[in-house]
Amino acid sequence: MVNRADIGVIGGSGLYSLLDDAQEVELTTPYGPPSDVVTVGRIGARSVAFLPRHGRDHRHPPHRIPYRANLWALRSLGVRQVLAPSAVGSLKAEHGPGAIVVPDQLVDRTSGRVQTYYDAGGAVHVSFADPYCPTGRAVAVSVARSGGWDIVDGGTLVVIEGPRFSTRAESQWFARNGWTVVGMTGFPEAVLARELALCYTSLSLVTDHDAGVEAGEGVTHEEVLRFFATNVTKMRSLVADAVEALPEERTCACGSALDGIKLPFDLP
Ligand SMILES: [Zn+2]
Repeated sequence: MVNRADIGVIGGSGLYSLLDDAQEVELTTPYGPPSDVVTVGRIGARSVAFLPRHGRDHRHPPHRIPYRANLWALRSLGVRQVLAPSAVGSLKAEHGPGAIVVPDQLVDRTSGRVQTYYDAGGAVHVSFADPYCPTGRAVAVSVARSGGWDIVDGGTLVVIEGPRFSTRAESQWFARNGWTVVGMTGFPEAVLARELALCYTSLSLVTDHDAGVEAGEGVTHEEVLRFFATNVTKMRSLVADAVEALPEERTCACGSALDGIKLPFDLP
């Protein structure tokens, strides 16, 4: 079916060639346009919508990504399960570049980002104790393991405001708290997915050690870009495998996130 998709992928533009029979869909939402045109196509038997998080030309820095428009646009295409690959820094000496962390917890250290759809017409409090889809996590861990990745099943992703990297003291503080990886885009993406009753799974690819766990000068932009470029092909096959392994019918609780709550508007 044209312009419909079951699974959404929000990630880097290196993932475009994932899709067969790809078509571009230009969408707008009550929250403005998403990061870019959405590409809808197939991976095996599954219909997939791909959205480049930062835009095709990387024009949206992490703190300016239209997060609400992105999740809304995907849901309006029929998407109910979202895979979210992204680059992160590691807070653990034992998880170096090339490890894939599939976090089960999140700490929000962003500021000033709009993190809800429900800011008028009555309060809507979704449960967020477990921010990630358990099914999506299990699938991601299993396909990454069979793909030979250095896989970390669980862990805490701390999301910072950016666009700067952490100071050494901030990074050491995160590490002392036992948190696992640090990134800039995992929030509010995860909570907005929950507010739309979508399944959301983070695939956090470690590109470097964060400032608090490495002895050198700290993270540079060049390091991150260089590392990500060399891992794009691997990431592409991981995402494709995860898409094909996701169950068609959802049995997790993500779809019931809004049950019994009176919403101020209809969801797309
Ligand atoms: Zn789910």
